[in-house]
Amino acid sequence: MKYALVTGGSRGIGRAVCIKLAEMEFSILINYKSNRVAAEETKSQIKQNGGTAVLLPFDVTSVVEVEKVLSEWQAAHSEEYISVLVNNAGIRRDNLLFWQSDEEWKTVLDTSLNGAFYTTRALVRYMMNKKFGRIINIVSISGINGMAGQTNYSAAKAGVIGMTKSLALEAARKKVTVNAVAPGFIETDMTKDLPYDELKKIVPANRFGKAEEVADLVGFLASEKADYITGQVISISGGL
Ligand code: NDP
Repeated sequence: MKYALVTGGSRGIGRAVCIKLAEMEFSILINYKSNRVAAEETKSQIKQNGGTAVLLPFDVTSVVEVEKVLSEWQAAHSEEYISVLVNNAGIRRDNLLFWQSDEEWKTVLDTSLNGAFYTTRALVRYMMNKKFGRIINIVSISGINGMAGQTNYSAAKAGVIGMTKSLALEAARKKVTVNAVAPGFIETDMTKDLPYDELKKIVPANRFGKAEEVADLVGFLASEKADYITGQVISISGGL
């Protein structure tokens, strides 16, 4: 059985990635923080399509929880390992920098950047030992170009991009690839409060993207066909 862990797999892009990877015959570990109902819905959609999935709740910001849950999973599956990790959990707490609170800054970095570090550190050694692995980090156009009101979010995503590039160099010889996917505006809960009609005008494709479109790209990077792609940041943004 091939296993894939998707952090933040309960909703939005994470859910679409879980469904896509299940179609590719991965057994899915659906991580989420608190929305069990949504995580169950992801699981039931996978099961309806004939796939397999279990829920694996933990808070990616807690190194103690991440290490406990993942080491327990590993102990219960001593012959197996998680060969695909999608670091997708993320939050927005937008504010102009001079109004930004310590909490807004810290919680966004803790989720995207520290969370990706904790999960990756817990799993990458198994991938390297087995000489196959895929780490796919969901970042953002905001981490490449910057976005007013998102200094915390941009810093977190730019940090993950740096981590992606350096880890790719460490892991390439062990046949573990590490890439980042940088979406523009995607229709999910994260963007539902944004003024769609105004913002779509700044997107050359004149629309927001769909979570399934991001999932197709993640699926390709997770596949064996993407063996020679590592250390890259691939945008999916309708030209933004
Ligand atoms: P959603 O808000 O729809 O979903 C966020 C997911 O992250 C949920 O599954 C949530 O779990 C989980 N999550 C949040 N905090 C934690 C935590 N501490 N521990 C574990 N899980 C957590 O977001 P999107 O699907 O829109 O975004 C997914 C990723 O894509 C994020 O990294 C985001 O930054 C990035 N992105 C999104 C864009 C967009 O336009 N939507 C654009 C660019 C990047 P729960 O359900 O339990 O709350």
